[in-house]
Amino acid sequence: MTMVTGDDYGGLEHRSSTALVASRRDLPTINQKDAAKSDGYLTFLGLVSHEYFHTWNVKRIKPAAFAPYRYLEENHTDLLWVFEGFTSYYDDLMLLRSGVVDLDTYHRLLAKNVNAVHRAPGRFKQSVAESSFDTWTRFYKQDENSPNALVSYYSKGALVALGLDLHIRNHSQNEKSLDDVMRLMWERYGREFYLREPRGVAEGEMPSLVAEATGVDATDFIARYAYGRDDIPLSDLMAKQGVSLQWSSANTLPSLDARFRARGNEGLEIATVYEHGAAHKAGLSAGDLIVALNGLRVKNQQNLDQLLSAYSATDTIALHIFRRDELREFKATLSQAPNDSCSLTLASS
Ligand SMILES: [Zn+2]
Repeated sequence: MTMVTGDDYGGLEHRSSTALVASRRDLPTINQKDAAKSDGYLTFLGLVSHEYFHTWNVKRIKPAAFAPYRYLEENHTDLLWVFEGFTSYYDDLMLLRSGVVDLDTYHRLLAKNVNAVHRAPGRFKQSVAESSFDTWTRFYKQDENSPNALVSYYSKGALVALGLDLHIRNHSQNEKSLDDVMRLMWERYGREFYLREPRGVAEGEMPSLVAEATGVDATDFIARYAYGRDDIPLSDLMAKQGVSLQWSSANTLPSLDARFRARGNEGLEIATVYEHGAAHKAGLSAGDLIVALNGLRVKNQQNLDQLLSAYSATDTIALHIFRRDELREFKATLSQAPNDSCSLTLASS
């Protein structure tokens, strides 16, 4: 059941159905020839695929902490990196396997997720297991500092799934994969879920499930990347499967290391200041309304980019901002745009 609105996105899985909210502009119209391939429509299909996969992964195969689910209280588990993260990995993968997208498009979707995870410094402060456990108190109560403090068990969980899939393939001469782990979980915890007392995956059980399903030891992998905060070594893991992952800079403009958003008709405000970046060092804060850069008015993102294009990294600029109702001036030393944009290609092509 899809509710189509101006600007919403989300879904909620149910046992035999799903409730989705999507933006009108993501859906193709009869006059758009290639609309079925637009990024917006792919986003919508990814959502549909995600909630469909949940029919198995979380509505039947569940964490032990959800079996049974207690609807009157908060249910804590550190396993949402499996139930949301694996689902986020399989949602786009199923679009590839079903032929809805081609390999190049799939690589682009994967790269988009790698970029999103690598842009948030919070991934070094919190593991996906911790993020999962804290979801009732933190993940669904985000504020402007969240990218610095939190990691998403959806997007980084999907990278843990990708890394684990590659790890299993690399250590089993491509005989086994994450699919084998899902099948074992289905046989043991999912298939007969409604025929007997509900049982679920115990906290800490994933390493032994992986070993039983595939014969591959993933204890250290899971400890480091799901329960620890290390970046998953995706380029090494992918290289062994013939896929090359390259990092480059998304743009050539010098950077303030911050994220901006429009504040109504007033102008551009800082949404997030990335820790240890140019704006952070200058003393700027989330919520500051940018008025001018070196005396020239800042109206929107496009115009800020235009103004920044006149400078190089390491130049120092003056920024006038309103903090609440106070006009203030800050000096910021710009930085090199980070190498935060990855692309994936088949090594042979
Ligand atoms: Zn989900």
